[in-house]
Amino acid sequence: MENKNNTSKNTEFRQPVAGKRIVILGGGESGAGAAVLAKKQGFDVFVSDLSNIKPQYKELLDKYRISYEENQHTEDKILNADEVIKSPGIPDKAPVVRKLREQGIPVISEIEFAGRYTRAKTVCITGSNGKTTTTMLTHHILKNAGLNVGLAGNVGNSFALQVAESNYDYYVIELSSFQLDGMYEFKADIAVLLNITPDHLDRYDYEMQNYVNAKMRILQNQKAEDAFIFWNDDPFIREEINKKRPKAALYPFALKKGKGAVAYTEDKQIIIETPKGIFTMEEELIALTGEHNLYNSLAAGIAAKLMDIKNDDIRQSLSNFKGVEHRLEKVARVRGVEYVNDSKATNVNSTWYALQSMKTPVVLILGGTDKGNDYRSIESLVKDKCRALIFLGADNTKLHDFFDDKVKQTTDARSMQEAVSQAYEIAEKGDTVLLSPCCASFDLFKNYEDRGTQFKAWVRNL
Ligand code: ADP
Repeated sequence: MENKNNTSKNTEFRQPVAGKRIVILGGGESGAGAAVLAKKQGFDVFVSDLSNIKPQYKELLDKYRISYEENQHTEDKILNADEVIKSPGIPDKAPVVRKLREQGIPVISEIEFAGRYTRAKTVCITGSNGKTTTTMLTHHILKNAGLNVGLAGNVGNSFALQVAESNYDYYVIELSSFQLDGMYEFKADIAVLLNITPDHLDRYDYEMQNYVNAKMRILQNQKAEDAFIFWNDDPFIREEINKKRPKAALYPFALKKGKGAVAYTEDKQIIIETPKGIFTMEEELIALTGEHNLYNSLAAGIAAKLMDIKNDDIRQSLSNFKGVEHRLEKVARVRGVEYVNDSKATNVNSTWYALQSMKTPVVLILGGTDKGNDYRSIESLVKDKCRALIFLGADNTKLHDFFDDKVKQTTDARSMQEAVSQAYEIAEKGDTVLLSPCCASFDLFKNYEDRGTQFKAWVRNL
């Protein structure tokens, strides 16, 4: 497919830009990338960040002679914008965003902006869980098949920076609900919606429907020639499809055939039926394990089929994909015990899938910053599979209240070192020690990566 930078499939290219001012709120990966693209397009560009801007992004801004400020928002320099690109991390409630809206200044996301300046075909992936895995897997398949494809959004470099500096024909883009919130005219050629479970409700006025609406924006502007891939058994998605009647061709996937699913498992095979042909593969040859990863593999497989990737290429990539760090990542086997790092499991739903995929007794390390968790959904899996629970959090009261009378052994740890050495003592040969915390990490760690990295380091130290 041709790629002409400076032309857009999403909107008419906006001419002329001379004298138009674009202000970018947030100087991180997406903001710095958007700034570079805006500068290259001839806008008057200003970046403003309420915290520090990391050295690597300052360097990038300096290289392109883009002016910026950090640790402050100077309103005089922001409220005179013609358009504002907001980092997904900044909530709508932020005072500066409120003021912009009051003044009627459009606020968009970096993805919306970058979409105006590329004709590349896009596969856009969202969902409450599985986005990064499915995005990387889809990118892996397309790249190995020889396509000139970029990886963008929440993973990899920002979409805008790649549109500014590279010349990709295709992009696989991971989209969070916050990015979708700032998207209006952008269109995904292939949209993937993996699932919708409660998350980030603090940013959606604690209204589930607001969060659902954000996720459904992945469909906006799609036409009959576009594709919508989704999990057929998700009640929220089904209800929205009934309400919205999408124009795009629908490609539902599910664990089992029926109810219109075009991709499913049967007799230990995965089967994908598309107008471009049928794909089959032995389930056990798929590199990623667990039911949730079957869904992710089905979604990626449908996208690949729709992009005319050969079955052999899809099969090879699904079988040699290395997985993503901190997602059910096997760390080591120590004295017959397997240690698995699933630090990215920051909500109950992802821990459910992790436990569900376990084939041995489990010593589960969980806990952290609770986001209003309801542990009932993992109760029976914990009872069936867990030998012991190790609570790793600054405040474990809620976990004790819920689990103490349901599991034989629970213990407290205040550091990863403590958690790993307790797990080592408790686990028996043949067990799995699983770090799958259900919770955010900010009480004891910098972020989930730090938590997972510390886990791996202490395990390797055993
Ligand atoms: P995201 O980018 O949406 O946060 P990740 O791929 O990083 O998703 O995975 C986050 C967590 O969710 C991991 O613990 C992983 O094991 C689990 N997970 C992955 N895919 C799914 C899925 N389809 N459904 C539920 N949980 C999943």
